[in-house]
Amino acid sequence: MRELIPFLKLYKKHWFSLSLGMLLAFATLFASIGLLTLSGWFISAAAVAGLTIAKETFNYMLPGGGVRGFAIWRTAGRWGDRVVSHNATFKLLTDLRVFFFRKLAPLIPGRLSGLRDGDLLNRLVADVDAMDHVYLRLVSPVVIGIFGILSLTLFLCFFDLTIGLALGTILTIMLLTWPILFYRLGKHNGQALTLHTSSLRVSTLDWLEGHSELVLFGAEKRYLDALLDTQQKLLANQFINANLTGLASAMLMLTNGLALTVIVWLAADGVGGNTPDPLIAMIAFATMASFELLMPIAGAFQHLGQTLTSARRLNEITQGEPDVIFPQSGALKSDRCHIDFKDVSFSYPDSQSNVLNNINLSVNAGDKLAILGKTGSGKSTLIQLLCRYWDVSQGLVSIAGTPLRDIDEPTLRDTISVVSQRVDILNGSLRDNLHMAKPTASDTELEEVLCHVGLQTLLEDAGLDNWLGDGGRQLSGGEKRRIGIARALLRNAPIMLLDEPTEGLDKGTEQQIMALLNRHTVDKTVIFITHRLVNLSNMDHICLIEAGQIVESGTHQALLNAKGRYHQLHQTL
Ligand code: ATP
Ligand code: MG
Repeated sequence: MRELIPFLKLYKKHWFSLSLGMLLAFATLFASIGLLTLSGWFISAAAVAGLTIAKETFNYMLPGGGVRGFAIWRTAGRWGDRVVSHNATFKLLTDLRVFFFRKLAPLIPGRLSGLRDGDLLNRLVADVDAMDHVYLRLVSPVVIGIFGILSLTLFLCFFDLTIGLALGTILTIMLLTWPILFYRLGKHNGQALTLHTSSLRVSTLDWLEGHSELVLFGAEKRYLDALLDTQQKLLANQFINANLTGLASAMLMLTNGLALTVIVWLAADGVGGNTPDPLIAMIAFATMASFELLMPIAGAFQHLGQTLTSARRLNEITQGEPDVIFPQSGALKSDRCHIDFKDVSFSYPDSQSNVLNNINLSVNAGDKLAILGKTGSGKSTLIQLLCRYWDVSQGLVSIAGTPLRDIDEPTLRDTISVVSQRVDILNGSLRDNLHMAKPTASDTELEEVLCHVGLQTLLEDAGLDNWLGDGGRQLSGGEKRRIGIARALLRNAPIMLLDEPTEGLDKGTEQQIMALLNRHTVDKTVIFITHRLVNLSNMDHICLIEAGQIVESGTHQALLNAKGRYHQLHQTL
């Protein structure tokens, strides 16, 4: 149950409406039991009175009014209970989602890179949803159950101590054993159900996203079978759950019948020492109605295993410490944005070997550095360290003489614009996709930058309102890359990091884009990553990186003269 504590803490803010909801639910149940009890007594008392002289004096009006009063009270109470508790639950759910998202965002990309998209989505949607059951299905019925049993016992004790205590004892025993029994019965199935829901989501997403590749490679049936298999497992869990719910109802009816027999037997000789009278009917109906208190409790505990598994899955995320923590405030020490890597080594979490080893690198403000290296040599990792996706394992990275750890996030993001190797297109309009880099940019500015990167064709039809991503226009690899470049141009930060910006572009477009970037970055500090030896002669500095180490560095001419690796590579062109 400890898993639920972080979520129960969120209840504090809504204590008033949650308590009011419970009070109204209690009042409704009270009216419901009152209605059945009073009607039971009224009908029998009226029948008995009709057979005797008392029919002249029997007051039909008052109990009749009571029955109507309870009926109205019950309806109004149920309406009030639903409005108040559902309103509180929705507010709670909003807080829960915000709380979860606040914890989740700083963990990207570090800790979450090990999770599948579908699994994360399931945590965000289904597992968070499961948490609202804690109040509606667990806390509220148990609290109402305890108070309900207490009140009913006191009420019956007022008429007959033995009967009151007997029913109170039966109900208390049920309240204590029922949860344990149904928690145990539903625990494993609930855990499996949560995990199978998640894996069904993961495999459905996999199957949908990779559908065309799966068809091309003839693997579609295999994946579909795996998906249907998970679905079968989930259906089996749901089947067990439905059976447990049925079992709970059946057992409740059986115990209700047995309890009724015991109580009627106790009351048969008369209630409170009197001769047998209509109070027997009242007691019998009170006993029947009392089981309404227990009805939701079996369900609550049957689903507890499921709820706890969801809570555990959420806690795995919310209790994770971010790999990178930015300071609240931290400006750059100078306007001149030079970049320094000092004795930097880095290994990815959960990996034994270093991706970067003892890197020493300096780029003066306004200089252009090219990093050259084979695939997998650690070039993109170097850029990610500069953007503080990860913190270095050893050494120090600084911008403008300020260690990265001392720079706050907005300052760092404003200082660097990046064309990353994989450009993500958001599901949104063309305008949205560019505005993310500069929200204040006018439409004219956006259109100009699109023309500069040669994407004027995207402005056809709806112009900047053209929809990109899912359900919209799909972009080619080269077009995506140019959207990335357009974003970086709009950002216009003093440092520009270019991770293979012209990869996948034809020669003509490549030359155009390089010329554009050269014009744009005249006064900027640039790190340009490539594994192609083009446009390197106008770089101030070139670094060759191999297996995470700098093996050569210098100007284009100096490296050619040194007749080392760079020279060899040049010869092979
Ligand atoms: P390319 O030219 O293909 O883009 P690169 O030089 O940019 O290659 P990196 O992306 O920096 O190479 O990757 C360097 C090494 O780190 C690779 O062996 C890669 O498998 C590994 N790597 C990259 N990202 C991660 C990650 N998130 N977790 C673990 N290892 C990673
Ligand atoms: Mg790379």
